[in-house]
Amino acid sequence: MQAHAAMGPHDHFDMVTSAGVLRLHDPRRFGAVVYAYGNGDPVMHRLLGKLGMEPLSDDFRWDAFFSGLRSSRAPIKQVLLAGRLVVGVGNIYASEALFLAGIRPTMESSRIGPVRARRLYAAIRQVLELAVQRGGSTLRNFSSADGSVGHFQSEARVYGREGAPCHTCGTAVRMVRQGQRSSYFCPRCQRA
Ligand SMILES: [Zn+2]
Repeated sequence: MQAHAAMGPHDHFDMVTSAGVLRLHDPRRFGAVVYAYGNGDPVMHRLLGKLGMEPLSDDFRWDAFFSGLRSSRAPIKQVLLAGRLVVGVGNIYASEALFLAGIRPTMESSRIGPVRARRLYAAIRQVLELAVQRGGSTLRNFSSADGSVGHFQSEARVYGREGAPCHTCGTAVRMVRQGQRSSYFCPRCQRA
């Protein structure tokens, strides 16, 4: 077994393998480690059975995405965060994708028409692909497993920019609280 770095205050789990250590580094405690025997495990099924599509996989289908949007009357931002339609779209990525699609975070999901839904479908992929390239969007003052700080957040178009001018139209970016999370949007580029 190789020696590995000591666990820090935000490290919750280490799995030591012959190829290295898989570590759960989770400052905000949103994560979980589930160990289960086989596909039929009831705990596994309960935790994963309701999870949505993975946007960067072939599993992310337009028809399923659009019908999922149409079936919810919740605000679109909350539908994206909930994880039942898509997984991995966290608070920052949801704000950014909605900006790219020109949809206000408070818009009722079922009222989004096919044109803007298409834009959102593409924007989710675009934002997540950029985030992967940039090494994620780690919290300020925290670093990723290899010690480098994520650079996605510094390129955000609206997230964390309340009061600052929109890069597209110059209007001041606004912030609204939705279910205890902050959503950022441009009132001009995202009219509804
Ligand atoms: Zn704007």
